[in-house]
Amino acid sequence: MSTIIPLPAFTDNYVWAIREGGLAAVVDPGDAAPVRAWLARERVELCAILVTHHHRDHTGGIAELVRDRAVPVIGPAREAIPDRTRGVGQGDRFEIPGIALPVEVLDIPGHTAGHVAFVGSDPAWGEPVVFCGDTLFAAGCGRLFEGTPGEMWTSLSALAALPGGTRVYCGHEYTIANLRFAAAVEPGRSEIAARTAREQAARDRGLPTLPTTIALERETNPFLRATEAGVRAIAEAHAGRALGDAVAVFAALREWKNVF
Ligand code: ZN
Ligand code: FE
Repeated sequence: MSTIIPLPAFTDNYVWAIREGGLAAVVDPGDAAPVRAWLARERVELCAILVTHHHRDHTGGIAELVRDRAVPVIGPAREAIPDRTRGVGQGDRFEIPGIALPVEVLDIPGHTAGHVAFVGSDPAWGEPVVFCGDTLFAAGCGRLFEGTPGEMWTSLSALAALPGGTRVYCGHEYTIANLRFAAAVEPGRSEIAARTAREQAARDRGLPTLPTTIALERETNPFLRATEAGVRAIAEAHAGRALGDAVAVFAALREWKNVF
């Protein structure tokens, strides 16, 4: 059975290692150094690299890692990914080379134009996992650098439609700041206060707040809750105007968070 290990990089990135025995694939290696250090310490050999989107903090370590060992690099077909050997998009299915983990690809544009997610399912896990880069964060979502609010809303909705038990592996540790915003959007929600206490306790012990789950995100992530009447009301009050559909509510939340 594969295990998934966080390799912290830079100040708040995670490179995710998927380990099966003496082999491991890594997701979004923005920096080669923490990957190399972990591989050496654990005596594990790199077998594949998966990439969710083209940003440097997710791709910057690829060139060095493939120089060490020429492994397959699997990433979005619609983006320029260094040393990519296989371009993938919506609906593609493959097994991660070396560890044979079955993966399905979702197109989730919005943060970048070609951003993808990898949904993995090891029968031994029971529930699937998803690596979603900078699209869905714990209690938050990525900024819209290359997409429209409508695209991002559709992408987040596709992720929210995964089974509730799906474990969610995001690209950054932004949870505490995101929960501050979630509490401003839904001040009366005890789930958010309880989650904040739990996640802060994890951070105080130096632990990641990830993975999260789709079920927890549906309950506490304001960006997945734009169809809730209370969320709409506060978004309209903050925007100072009536908002049309859920996309307009989502767009107003995203703009509010940009300056929060
Ligand atoms: Zn990014
Ligand atoms: Fe990033």
